[in-house]
Amino acid sequence: MLKNVSLRFWITLSMLITLTPLALSAVGTYGLLNYGVIAPFHDVVKRKDSQILPVQQLRILTLKSMAPVDEFVVGGKPGKQSEYQALRAGITALFLDLDESITDDAPGSKALLNDARAAWAAADGFANELFSMPLRAADARVVAAMEQRFHDELIRASDELEVLHDRIVAVIDADAATAAQFLERSLWMAGIAGGISLICIALGVHIIGRIMSTSVDRLVQGANHFAEGNRSHRIHVELPPELTRVAQEFNHMIGRIHEAEEVLNDMARQDELTGLANRRAFEAVLPDMMGRAKRFEEQFTLLAIDIDHFKQVNDTHGHAAGDEVLRAVARTMKDTMRDSDRVFRVGGEEFAVLLPRTDGATARLAAERIRQAVEMAPVSLKSTEIAVTVSIGMASTLDFLEKSDLLEAADAALYRAKHEGRNRVAINRPGAAGSKKDGFAA
Ligand code: GH3
Ligand code: MG
Ligand code: MG
Repeated sequence: MLKNVSLRFWITLSMLITLTPLALSAVGTYGLLNYGVIAPFHDVVKRKDSQILPVQQLRILTLKSMAPVDEFVVGGKPGKQSEYQALRAGITALFLDLDESITDDAPGSKALLNDARAAWAAADGFANELFSMPLRAADARVVAAMEQRFHDELIRASDELEVLHDRIVAVIDADAATAAQFLERSLWMAGIAGGISLICIALGVHIIGRIMSTSVDRLVQGANHFAEGNRSHRIHVELPPELTRVAQEFNHMIGRIHEAEEVLNDMARQDELTGLANRRAFEAVLPDMMGRAKRFEEQFTLLAIDIDHFKQVNDTHGHAAGDEVLRAVARTMKDTMRDSDRVFRVGGEEFAVLLPRTDGATARLAAERIRQAVEMAPVSLKSTEIAVTVSIGMASTLDFLEKSDLLEAADAALYRAKHEGRNRVAINRPGAAGSKKDGFAA
């Protein structure tokens, strides 16, 4: 069933198999990057703006708020109080902002913020008390003690804020590490998917290439066999179905060409007028039989047959009558012969008969039978009847083992038959005198 699936299907399937890991990795990598890398980095930036920077600002402002109080205590300048109040407003606002932005995702950060705020509130209480004291009248020791407590609370607030800062930074570091981990994972995933795709591509190309090259090789071999003249070779291609169809068409075409060639061959070896085998066929068969006579001692006899005074037939009754006589003589000879004997028309009114596995005496009987049959069968035409005779020259491979010798010997015997009065059979034995007349042995 899979054999019928087209090449297009296989290529589409292998492309899908190849591209699926890449597509999945693209989606997966996008997800990983989005949720594992981009979101944490976003968080980092957000924390930096809404937590780290305000915490640092707050530390700076709390420490700065020390100066106007100290300067007020030393110099009693009333302007310092408003300077402090401005810083105080900033600090209060920052505490409010941080209270909103800091949740407890960095463990203990809310408590740290509250502690810092409490310390700041205490310091602020001392600062307000210092500002409200009539300093000149006050006890210097009491003022110094209060100032000291103010300093202590401020530093406590600053310390708490520092711890808070470190904690937030630690959370950010953890986020960054997670992001880096996800980034590495997504890179691995993309790499593995790319690797799988590459393997799939290589496999697909290899398998399709093998199927194609094997099938195409067979087609090419088949075409070569055909070009070399081999008509029995058939191409067997099982995959892909497209090439199977090409192979089937090719085989079908070779079969048809073979049939046509056989018909042409037959036509080329047949005499149109009499339907007998022609001279070309005679030339093809004779060497074969000579070879067998030599190798296997399958002797045969050649009869060279020529119609007597045929020119007169043409002259007296016309060419068409002559043709009719040729057809009639051919028929008579064919009817007289055994199936294994072969009759050829080798020239105008010249014939050759090959009598396989026949020795001289038997062949002579056969030749005599032909001669008599022709003599006894005058050719009837519409208005007249034409008497026909043939002269026959005989030679056997028992006596002549070379093709040219055999042909010449049969020719010479025919000449002798003519010379001795026609309508007779003459046999040629080695050394017998004779020569060619009509070029039968050509
Ligand atoms: P011989 O007894 O010595 O063989 O005399 P012949 O007249 O038969 O010999 P010759 O070779 O002189 O004449 C052969 C004639 O056969 C001459 C030619 O016109 C005729 N002929 C050859 N081919 C054909 C053919 O196909 N049809 C017809 N009608 N006549 C042919
Ligand atoms: Mg003749
Ligand atoms: Mg002749």
